[in-house]
Amino acid sequence: MTYRLFLFIALSFLLLQCTPTQGENKSDPKPEVKNVILLIGDGMGVSQVYSGITANKSLNMEKAQFVGLSKTYSANDYITDSAAGGTALATGTKTNNGAIGVDENGNAVKSILEYAAENGLSTGLVASCAITHATPASFVAHQLKRGMQEEIAVDFVNSDITLFIGGGRKYFVDREDKQNLLPQLEAKGFKVALDMESVMNTESGKLAALIADEHPATYPERGEFLPESVGKALELLKDNEKGFFLMVEGSQIDWGGHANEVEYTVNEVIDFDRAVKVAFDFADQNPGTLVVVTADHETGAMSITGGDLSKGEVNVSWGSSGHSAIMVPVFSYGTAAIEFAGIYENTDIFKKILELYNF
Ligand code: MG
Ligand code: ZN
Repeated sequence: MTYRLFLFIALSFLLLQCTPTQGENKSDPKPEVKNVILLIGDGMGVSQVYSGITANKSLNMEKAQFVGLSKTYSANDYITDSAAGGTALATGTKTNNGAIGVDENGNAVKSILEYAAENGLSTGLVASCAITHATPASFVAHQLKRGMQEEIAVDFVNSDITLFIGGGRKYFVDREDKQNLLPQLEAKGFKVALDMESVMNTESGKLAALIADEHPATYPERGEFLPESVGKALELLKDNEKGFFLMVEGSQIDWGGHANEVEYTVNEVIDFDRAVKVAFDFADQNPGTLVVVTADHETGAMSITGGDLSKGEVNVSWGSSGHSAIMVPVFSYGTAAIEFAGIYENTDIFKKILELYNF
């Protein structure tokens, strides 16, 4: 007994000596964040989330530990598009609608993914649309217009990203300049995967997965694409001792909103939420992981005018076939989740993550 007590005291003393002071300011210690998973439901406002909760009885998003609200306006418009919205989240800079990873004057601004890569972390993007589309593009590309998807594909080749999984193959192979970018990706050490079987049997290393010519199908037609891709991405990224940054986009919630189709919207929210579960489960098993679930803007000015919880039905009224200006939710989970409580600018999400990584 005395020996055990001695060992306990000695170990406690050693632990106290070895515990590093976290952050620069000792009076304000921030928990150490190693991995960040940022999930963006494109066009996902509170009505979209609650429609999903009603239709599905519950969503994993409800397990969020803290909730915030983000103001989404862009540099030149009260209502943002996904390019300016993605750029705000990725780079902490409000820019003009349509711009990808550049400021109002067209100057490139560094993204959180680029900061992470620079600091030796692994990085990844998963999207249920073309990987060159506005939201994922904002994290690696720097182009004046979101429509410049062939230029954005070149930015992917020239980036330091570890892996990406989505659609958009045609922007890499069927190009105006007749170049085929796939051999260039292979020359940079990527395994190129053109279907999910090839994605799922990847065991390590860099991965460039272009599983659709343009966009993956809608849900449920595309099956397990999104949650499986997120699971595989996490498996590959966690190999890095220094940590990782992963952005996951539920891209088509927005398209359900533009079409003013409740079923399309709700199905996409439910699928996106399955990816949220994969991220939350990873955070439970891997201390030092922060998960942030948010949106770039709301789409459709969707309101719920009635419904039935027992039948899982919602009655919806749409105020627009475009985006709206309403604030969007930010759900946070895991290490340092409390930092995302409150009401703030979309650009603050970048700033908070950058600060928590302590780069
Ligand atoms: Mg998008
Ligand atoms: Zn949209």
